[in-house]
Amino acid sequence: MSDGRRVPVVHDALQLIAEGVVDLVGFGVAVINVLREDDGRLETVAVAGNDEAREQLMGSRQSVESILMEIERADEWGMLRFVPAERLSDEEELSSWVPDMEVGDGPDSWDPMDLLLAPLYDDSGRMLGTLSMDVPDDGKRPDEAKRAVLNKYAAQAGRAVLTEVARRRLEEQVRLATAARHIVRDVSSELKVDRIMEVSQSAITQGLGVIGMWIQTFDEDGEGRTATYSNAGTDVELPAELVRIGRSAAELLWRVQEVTIIGRERPTPAIITTEQEKLIFEFLDTLAVSSLLFVPLGAGPECLGNLVLTRSGPDVEWTPVETSTALDIAHDLGRALLNARNFEREQQLVSELRELDTYKSQLIATVAHELKNPLTAILGHVEMLEATADVPVRAQRSVSSIERGAMRMERVIEDMLTLAKVGDPNNPLIAVPVEMGRLVDDALDLVSLTASRKRLMISYDPPTKPVVALGDSGDLDQVCSNLIGNAVKYTPEGRAVTVCLDRRGRDIVLTVADEGLGISPRDQERIFDEFFRSTNPEAVALPGTGLGLTIVRRIVTRHGGRIAVESALGKGTTFRVTLPAATVAV
Ligand code: ADP
Repeated sequence: MSDGRRVPVVHDALQLIAEGVVDLVGFGVAVINVLREDDGRLETVAVAGNDEAREQLMGSRQSVESILMEIERADEWGMLRFVPAERLSDEEELSSWVPDMEVGDGPDSWDPMDLLLAPLYDDSGRMLGTLSMDVPDDGKRPDEAKRAVLNKYAAQAGRAVLTEVARRRLEEQVRLATAARHIVRDVSSELKVDRIMEVSQSAITQGLGVIGMWIQTFDEDGEGRTATYSNAGTDVELPAELVRIGRSAAELLWRVQEVTIIGRERPTPAIITTEQEKLIFEFLDTLAVSSLLFVPLGAGPECLGNLVLTRSGPDVEWTPVETSTALDIAHDLGRALLNARNFEREQQLVSELRELDTYKSQLIATVAHELKNPLTAILGHVEMLEATADVPVRAQRSVSSIERGAMRMERVIEDMLTLAKVGDPNNPLIAVPVEMGRLVDDALDLVSLTASRKRLMISYDPPTKPVVALGDSGDLDQVCSNLIGNAVKYTPEGRAVTVCLDRRGRDIVLTVADEGLGISPRDQERIFDEFFRSTNPEAVALPGTGLGLTIVRRIVTRHGGRIAVESALGKGTTFRVTLPAATVAV
């Protein structure tokens, strides 16, 4: 073989047969041609006896029609066909190789233009090859005895050629099926069911040579979604009864990991009744389908549906290569469908949660707005009363209680409005460079009075270079003031609070550490939840809304950062915020 591939065993067998004709029957050359299914022509695969002929003929192809024409006027000698040279018209071109030989003058002398070949057929009468011979050693056209021997060789060649064609067909099937399997395996990463169907449909129909396919998937609710796809692009609507049959058959087959074939020429498979089979055939007739391969789809122990491949016409056999490939594909497809189904569900859940979040933000914003106006009125009136000289002393006490309560409500409302703003997905972040050092300075200024009253030791080493984040300066200001404010609030007199601001690589790290009350491990899990206040009585005794850390975390997340807490009850707490640094110099 010119491309250096190993000569297959069957070729060796054909070569041996050709050599037998040359050596044992006595011919100068013997040639065997085999059908090539890619173009339907006959290819020369074995030449014995003559190197020149071998050189010229090996690998060449000839159409079946040209051979049929050549042997149209042949004498029939069993399997052999003989066309004497004198029967050929001058312009008729015969084989591509004409031997150079002495011609005798007897009536049975061989003429170089004589044609002797055995066409080799399969059971259905399709020509699969030829065995031809030329240049008899004795220079004579074969007599009865020689013809009998040649017929034996022809019969042998017929069997070998049949094997060769079947082997090639199998090889081709394996090649196509493997290609289909790879495509379906690759499609497992796709997360859209429609896309999975689209890609695997063409791979499967081409790879397994089917005229159509449909897929039925079952949902967990047992309802089943009949997604049907046919090769011709038309949707096949399965009757409800067939959907039911398909479902129970798939479940049975998935358990035993088998496929089943339903065809007119075959016995009814054990998994269905003859009535059910009748129904199936009635349906198949409407699609002009004569045979189907039924494959269960699934992943792990779960059967997820079924895949049906259809064929029509007389050549409807499903080979073991095809059925095992189909089952393999069903595993990959099953896994892909399961992934896609889970992904779809997750997406749905995420979108439901998002909707819920939006609703919550809207609710909080609306309530806060509604409370804000009457509260402003209350505080206005309180101010007026305080400014009035003739309010009795007892009433003055009530007025200041009202004021304290109203101011506490105002803080809660302010926090609710901020929370609604930073938690609203429809309120996008407009990011600008923000110098974090300035925000930390401001936050420290804000708490300086309280800190000095509590004699807290606040240490802060300002960074030597500007530390710039990208974000909303109001929001980031809240982060700094809430964390530093909490540290001061929750740290008893005389202890220390340490603030650090640093650039680390591409990140900005803000650390606020205190030697305060600390947070229990159980509380740590919930401190970022809305309205959560500590279970520690010492902490609850201090004023607060339980919204500060929720706001901080929302803001940090919105800015692409993260927040971590480390704390030990009675020892102190450290909050660490990491934000992406702005890459531009300011
Ligand atoms: P609050 O308005 O109650 O301070 P936050 O959301 O800011 O609300 O904090 C939630 C809870 O976390 C607080 O009630 C407090 O118990 C606890 N906490 C926050 N910061 C600290 C801290 N630095 N030290 C101890 N406990 C803290």
